[in-house]
Amino acid sequence: MSDSTTGEPRLAVVSGAASGIGRAAALALAREGCAVVAADLDERGAHHTAQEMPSGRGYGVDVSDGDSVAALAAQVLDELGVPEVVVNCAGWDEARPFLDTDRGFWERVVQINLLGVVAVTHAFLQPMIGHGRGGRIVNVASDAARVGSSGEAVYAGAKGGVVAFTKSVARETARHAITANAVCPGPTDTRLFRAQPERLREALVKAVPMRRLGQPEDVARAICFFASRDSGYITGQVLSVSGGLTMAG
Ligand code: NAD
Repeated sequence: MSDSTTGEPRLAVVSGAASGIGRAAALALAREGCAVVAADLDERGAHHTAQEMPSGRGYGVDVSDGDSVAALAAQVLDELGVPEVVVNCAGWDEARPFLDTDRGFWERVVQINLLGVVAVTHAFLQPMIGHGRGGRIVNVASDAARVGSSGEAVYAGAKGGVVAFTKSVARETARHAITANAVCPGPTDTRLFRAQPERLREALVKAVPMRRLGQPEDVARAICFFASRDSGYITGQVLSVSGGLTMAG
């Protein structure tokens, strides 16, 4: 994935890159020749991911904090230049019946899962447009956004917001040759999934037609496709990676 005009590697920013799907996506993009910014609340984990790549750099960021996102963008633009690819993968949830949740919990879920995507996209989009070379935004939503998920009402709402945000940004940026697409993982074997109650985890695996959990690498492949130059005429799309669990039209 080097830039055919300059021979420079394409620069990709990946949030949530310390763990799970974000980590797998960062490593897959690096294998395809990208220089990768691995950004995460877990700064040590981000550095750890970056160390596994030939041209990786780790950064700490809290996507739910506007100042932290602005600081990340300023540092990346100053030290490495304008990214061509932005992958929003940072996310968080805790399964709880909706009626057991309160405003503090709702705000945390929306701040991280929806406003985090909005803030990171906003921070890098203007420089990407200014650079005039096109680009790729890949947002990791969830099948919960498409079909709902018991115990994850607010998270599903935030992820539904990510899907609608992605489509709207895709419309606004299409004339700049910047695509925006969403990947919706189903149950995937990561720290986030392992934190869910066992009963819920077992029920989800049984519901998957392929009868297995997704692996982070399964999702990373779809992210890499949307991040690649090969997907240049595909925008505003939503792709489930869930072993057949969701077959939305
Ligand atoms: P994970 O917990 O392994 O990774 C999530 C990463 O996001 C962690 O490294 C964490 O430190 C980081 N993060 C959390 N809050 C952050 C913040 N405020 N700022 C910056 N980084 C932050 O979980 P995962 O399963 O790999 O999740 C990746 C994405 O996939 C998330 O957006 C999640 O909602 C989505 N997803 C996961 C599943 C699943 O079953 N695992 C299903 C659907 C969607």
